[in-house]
Amino acid sequence: MSVLIVGSVALDYLETPFGKMDQALGGSATFCSIAASYLTENIRMVGIVGEDFPQAHVDYFASRHIDTLGLERVEGGKTFSWGGRYHEDMNTRDTLYTVLGVFEHFHPVIPDEWKKSEFVLLGNIHPSLQLEVLDQVEEPKLVVCDTMNLWIDISLKELKQVLKRVNVLVLNDEEARMLTGERNIFNAGKKMLRMGPSVIVIKKGEHGAVLLSKDTTFIAPAFPLGGFKDPTGAGDTFAGGFIGWLERTNDVSVANMRKAVVYGSVLASFCVEEFSIEGIRELSEEQIAERFGIFRTLSTF
Ligand code: AMP
Repeated sequence: MSVLIVGSVALDYLETPFGKMDQALGGSATFCSIAASYLTENIRMVGIVGEDFPQAHVDYFASRHIDTLGLERVEGGKTFSWGGRYHEDMNTRDTLYTVLGVFEHFHPVIPDEWKKSEFVLLGNIHPSLQLEVLDQVEEPKLVVCDTMNLWIDISLKELKQVLKRVNVLVLNDEEARMLTGERNIFNAGKKMLRMGPSVIVIKKGEHGAVLLSKDTTFIAPAFPLGGFKDPTGAGDTFAGGFIGWLERTNDVSVANMRKAVVYGSVLASFCVEEFSIEGIRELSEEQIAERFGIFRTLSTF
């Protein structure tokens, strides 16, 4: 069993009311892979970096048993870089810049020995690249797709093609409203279920997450954190934890996806506590199990 994860690998500039960080390790594939690595040892990362990408980050991926055979390094190129500034409420942010660098001419190449990966996570990247990945993999057991407002805005046609070919769509409430034109997220969920995926997971930041299928509505709270410093990557971390649990248990039933939502939420709760990947850099099984247990008590009555 294995999880194939495709997405961006970035050096970010982050600014929140709690501070700033430059050249911070980021990107959708980065957060997804690190999160999944707490639940499974079989992670295959596909992405691209430039010559400026520190070897220490690649070594860190290896230390978390993330296989980087699919991480292309372009000599002379610059790593994708995103700058974001969060508002006081930390729920909204402005993109300060996006420097594509080597990402501009990126076409994901899935190594032959990875084409039969059973679990595929299409991290947030241009939907046409997500389609290129789907064209290369052979009958995966489960495909989970993440996206962002930018693609709903400028590449809706390609995104809709992707949706026809995935099992689970993970997105946040604002994106769900944008994609469907529905204000109410349950109505939005029903519309998205008609677009292809059989399961929709809508993340609502500090208000938790909702999983919807034809016959299921599951609502998980968010972990009640006293404070957080940087929400960057929380969504990707959630998606990585979600698919990591499904791969670990080799069970893609909707019943098991409820637990997957909770694992995703647990890992996201660690992510937002520190800047960049620092909150999830090194976690113990006990830390994860403890928060998982607390989640159970939050909504049992
Ligand atoms: P999230 O907070 O879940 O939206 O993810 C933040 C991460 O997404 C950052 O580390 C960025 O490097 C990455 N990112 C931002 N914009 C893009 C984009 N257009 N394509 C791919 N990744 C992006």
